[in-house]
Amino acid sequence: MRRIPTTNWAASFSYGFRDCLYPSSMDAVCEIVARSPKIKAVGSGHSFNAIADGEVALSLTELPINPVIEGDGTQVSIGAHCTYGELALFLHRHHLAVHNLASLPHISIAGAIATATHGSGNGNGNLATAVSGLEIVSGDGRLVNVARGDADFPGMVVHLGALGVVTRVTLDVQPEFQVAQCVYEGLTWDKLLANLDEIMAAGYSVSVFTQWGQQAGSIWVKRTASANEWPAAIYGAARAMVKRHPISGLDAQNSTEQLGQYGRWSDRLPHFKMGFTPSSGEEIQSEFHLPREYGVAAIDALLSIRERFAHLVQAAEFRTVAADELWLSPQYHRDTLSIHFTWIRDQEAVNAAVEHIEQTLSRFMALPHWGKVFTRRHIGAKYEKLPEFVRLRDRMDPERTFSNLWLEDAILGSSGN
Ligand SMILES: Cc1cc2nc3c(=O)[nH]c(=O)nc-3n(C[C@H](O)[C@H](O)[C@H](O)COP(=O)(O)OP(=O)(O)OC[C@H]3O[C@@H](n4cnc5c(N)ncnc54)[C@H](O)[C@@H]3O)c2cc1C
Repeated sequence: MRRIPTTNWAASFSYGFRDCLYPSSMDAVCEIVARSPKIKAVGSGHSFNAIADGEVALSLTELPINPVIEGDGTQVSIGAHCTYGELALFLHRHHLAVHNLASLPHISIAGAIATATHGSGNGNGNLATAVSGLEIVSGDGRLVNVARGDADFPGMVVHLGALGVVTRVTLDVQPEFQVAQCVYEGLTWDKLLANLDEIMAAGYSVSVFTQWGQQAGSIWVKRTASANEWPAAIYGAARAMVKRHPISGLDAQNSTEQLGQYGRWSDRLPHFKMGFTPSSGEEIQSEFHLPREYGVAAIDALLSIRERFAHLVQAAEFRTVAADELWLSPQYHRDTLSIHFTWIRDQEAVNAAVEHIEQTLSRFMALPHWGKVFTRRHIGAKYEKLPEFVRLRDRMDPERTFSNLWLEDAILGSSGN
């Protein structure tokens, strides 16, 4: 459907677009970019800050996604605006899978890799780490192809929408695998803090959900078919015998299958089912990534200030993400514990709470999720590879066609000019 995007998915952020263009051919994409003083590619609109804002939007939804299996079944090349849900349907027909998914399948691949979107799992890199090639239209309307091994590649995958319009991605794929999940309830803070590493290692992908109350909450364990029997309890948390929603009180029907039943990877790795409303809908999100070795101290520090933010939390989640080589990835050369907050939709109160959290987590080298709410500025300066990224952007977009205030102010600061 052709329309000018007015708000993000959660209706927590209003875009300033005055037009949206819907090219239906690659020639048209290149021509639009070449003639536009400013253009902003939009994905599925699931980010919570101004990262995707601009004057004129460009949607790729009228381009065909044309998926192609490559490299003897080890890679798939596909239109970058494709959602992970659509990708999973295609891969299933070929008995293939990607290594991991975020909590929902509704997001576009281009938008997800732009912000280093991730799932969980000690051994699982964020979703951008599956990218092995990109086709991208640079500021002068030229089609640029880049592949893993090229000098600029590690700078281009987590792109923040700053380098061009990503039109196709090539992703590593593997044979399809089965996953089952179980929820363990009644985890205490003592047990979590004493056994954080062991708990996060309990499966292929593990999430701990909390509301920062008297108890820590629940452990969501996703295991592959090769794993052992499900234990009755994990560190005192008992296996749930009925299906749960990550936000207590919401209908578990929207959640992916639980209770230890094995099924397709794509039907279990996200928390939320395709075709249903993910999460709560009326929400704001923030997330902070910090080195795993600081995890216990960071959670403990947040516990000591929880009266400043807990009343705004619908759900919070701890996940782990493996280190990578991507310049603007919060996992660049570090395994992280990622501390996520789904807030009620009260931006002013959330901003105040986030400031407290940022201050508390600053001594643990925390970096915010690029697509969620944070209040600190010049975040890019915390990235070792920012100077290389700025030089790459100078080459890809010398006229700042893809730039917006968020990028210049919140991220690049003075170093981007
Ligand atoms: C309910 C919900 C659950 C979420 N769960 C998770 C989670 O589990 N893990 C996690 O890490 N994050 C999660 N997120 C955050 C989300 O994954 C990120 O914000 C992601 O970037 C959203 O992708 P999008 O396609 O909606 O991108 P948008 O918000 O539309 O855009 C994000 C950026 O990508 C750029 N972009 C989009 N398409 C293109 C393109 N074709 N070419 C160039 N640039 C482009 C935009 O310009 C912008 O800079 C969640 C968000 C919601 C709303």
